[in-house]
Amino acid sequence: MKITVLVGGVGGARFLQGVRELLGRTAFPAVLGEGSEPGPHSVTAIVNVGDDAWMHGVRICPDLDTCMYTLGGGIDTERGWGRVNETWHAKEELAAYGADPDWFGLGDRDLATHLIRTQMLSAGFALSDVTEALCRRWDPGVRLLPATNDRHETHVVVNDPDDPDTKRAIHFQEWWVRHRADIPTHGFAQVGADDPAPAPGVLEAIAEADIVLLAPSNPVVSIGAILSVPGIRGALRTTAAPVVGISPVIGGHPLRGMADACLDVIGVETSAEAIGDYYGARSGNGILDGWLIAPEDSATVAGVAVRSVPLLMTDPPTTAQMVRDACELVDIDV
Ligand code: GDP
Ligand code: CA
Repeated sequence: MKITVLVGGVGGARFLQGVRELLGRTAFPAVLGEGSEPGPHSVTAIVNVGDDAWMHGVRICPDLDTCMYTLGGGIDTERGWGRVNETWHAKEELAAYGADPDWFGLGDRDLATHLIRTQMLSAGFALSDVTEALCRRWDPGVRLLPATNDRHETHVVVNDPDDPDTKRAIHFQEWWVRHRADIPTHGFAQVGADDPAPAPGVLEAIAEADIVLLAPSNPVVSIGAILSVPGIRGALRTTAAPVVGISPVIGGHPLRGMADACLDVIGVETSAEAIGDYYGARSGNGILDGWLIAPEDSATVAGVAVRSVPLLMTDPPTTAQMVRDACELVDIDV
């Protein structure tokens, strides 16, 4: 079985724990740790890189790292991001120098990952190669592919605080972490390479899959940012595999996060139905064949098979049942 999942950070990583619980470790040997046995199924995650940023001279890939640390057992489960047993000496020292930005949570253990990544990128390796190398330590059991190796960052158009009549774009991280998504906002824009291309393996993983799943990740800045890489949306529309999405809202509210702030900006209501409509049916101009929603919600999406099942990812076995339900909705045997 070949299964491909589009993911962001925390919601995506938890969902991948359920996929791994159900299907075992991926068959791709290159991403397995030493001594780790490949499983029978090819499991690929296409990971959002819109949150990636340069900070203090190092390249930070928050969603790739959240997936890698979560699946590799190194995540701080309380916070949901960064390393367990983290210390913050480097951050304190940078602040003592007055270095900008001072609002970003750069932990000491985490910093080692960013240093290795930055060294490899400077030596000319692609982000997908770097990710594979980092995964040999963490052994996530899932092939993690960046959506693109090119710079393709999500920036946010806001009022200039010094001159409210002027708009300016700030990095998504600054909007999310520093401003808590709570300033007058006009829209999102992808910034970086003129012509970003899907990373090697991404289009194949969609085209050759038996099923493609959209994790219950942020529809705008996680899934939406992946879909904005030219070619990916088209691949989802043309693959022979069914595409099933999982709703990130339960009872009309996002879990652990501020996804509603992003939906507000693009004028989409925070409801299972509105997000389903926003993704749309493959039989129309959209990308979905199936849409899983929580029992607390209701949705009718033209051209899409909708089913309600429990969607709270409390532990990997519970999440594995969501993956099974997604497959069942489109008649895929697991
Ligand atoms: P981020 O990059 O760290 O913000 O993480 P993602 O974009 O992957 O996921 C964030 C989304 O996950 C939020 O919109 C949440 O509503 C959703 N989410 C988190 N936990 C759960 C859960 O247990 N069930 C469902 N259905 N969605 C969840
Ligand atoms: Ca993210």
